[in-house]
Amino acid sequence: MPEDNMKVTMEKIVSLCKRRGFIFQSSEIYGGLGSCWDYGPLGVELKKNIKDFWWKKVVQERDDMVGLDASIMMHPQVWVASGHVAGFSDPLVECKDCKHRFRSTDIDLSACPDCGGALSEPRMFNLMFKTFMGPVEDASNVVYLRPETAQAQFVNFDNVQSTTRKKLPFGIAQVGKSFRNEITTGNFIFRTREFEQMEIEYFVKPGTDGEWFGYWVNERLNYYVGLGIKKDNLRLRQHDQEELAHYARGCFDVDYNFPIGWSEIEGIANRGDFDLTQHSKFSGKTLDYFDEEKNERYIPYVIEPSSGVDRTLLAVLCDAYDEEMADKELRVVLRINPQIAPVKVAILPLSRNAKLLPMSKGVSALLRQHFMTQYDDAQSIGRRYRRQDEIGTPYCVTIDFQSLDDNQVTIRERDSMQQSRVPVAELVETLKDKFGL
Ligand code: ATP
Repeated sequence: MPEDNMKVTMEKIVSLCKRRGFIFQSSEIYGGLGSCWDYGPLGVELKKNIKDFWWKKVVQERDDMVGLDASIMMHPQVWVASGHVAGFSDPLVECKDCKHRFRSTDIDLSACPDCGGALSEPRMFNLMFKTFMGPVEDASNVVYLRPETAQAQFVNFDNVQSTTRKKLPFGIAQVGKSFRNEITTGNFIFRTREFEQMEIEYFVKPGTDGEWFGYWVNERLNYYVGLGIKKDNLRLRQHDQEELAHYARGCFDVDYNFPIGWSEIEGIANRGDFDLTQHSKFSGKTLDYFDEEKNERYIPYVIEPSSGVDRTLLAVLCDAYDEEMADKELRVVLRINPQIAPVKVAILPLSRNAKLLPMSKGVSALLRQHFMTQYDDAQSIGRRYRRQDEIGTPYCVTIDFQSLDDNQVTIRERDSMQQSRVPVAELVETLKDKFGL
């Protein structure tokens, strides 16, 4: 097969995700709902593993970070103070002929990209979803679905600092759903209206922010390499002055080389003291920090690394997707970092022969105490290996007739396809070693 045909494309990823149960269109039997997606049995595992990986790296393994899980709906004044009510808008243009709508910054404004029709003047469109709290649907009961998780870290700054007694510098990390009524969605799960974010607000002494900003930019780039993404497919892009929000002192994006081109998976911003100052002003509650060494109070500065779960998952899939010729057949293999693979070990009896059943079920019961496993005895062993390759399962354990005599099983490795025999008594430890557990 020519090399070009074996390249990863968005179509191949979408098709694999649907075929194998990673991601389905939301409400598919009703015709779907614009840009909403459901994570199926494998997708939910991968997504959970990505979030756990992030949490382990940024919370568990550090002593300067604590977690938070705030509510999605917050006091509406939060979004006035943060600037979202007045300014979280995109310029929208509408085609006068086909009525399709676009973000004016995404397209050449000379004519509609869909039908060539004339476009309207841009008008600003607020991206926050609104709803009403309680039974009365009037302006005084409007609440917003949060467009980012981050404001809760600022609003809870005092609660967290006073209960944990953390000294600067320290950070508050949060994972959760965010909602944006995006004008242009698309490219599968790349830009949707409901998505998940993993955000850090890292509070530092004013004057040390430049140094910490550099630290986090570097740290976050390395994080993606640790997640298993190829270094060549990652880059940092610095925002120029025009692109920066008025309060931001600097911003870098971590971009991934998607099949649709280089695009952002994470933004890292130096936000100065803007957020805590705004919330102090609007709430009337002082959100500052008492520096015992200097014996003075001040408002900390903040560095914000903000990552998308769904975009990270898409980058992981695109990066891991591989096709190769093996035994004159096309082998599709997801070379996912074993730590985040949705299924860690597959248990595959050589056949459905009743004699193999008790031992196979025994091995399965043993392994599922330690790993996310899948038991599969349908079709030929070759086909089952291919199925596991396609979903990125790092190890398959095969039970054959010899196993009944010598109490050994075969471990087959996804990437090299190499096989080795291991006594059942050593199986858990051998696999744990392979996973670095
Ligand atoms: P873009 O301009 O590409 O939509 P953004 O610059 O508005 O993104 P941020 O506000 O910096 O994004 O949000 C931080 C991260 O949250 C992004 O890097 C991305 O991973 C994720 N994210 C933001 N908006 C969406 C969305 N609509 N769908 C999926 N993920 C999103």
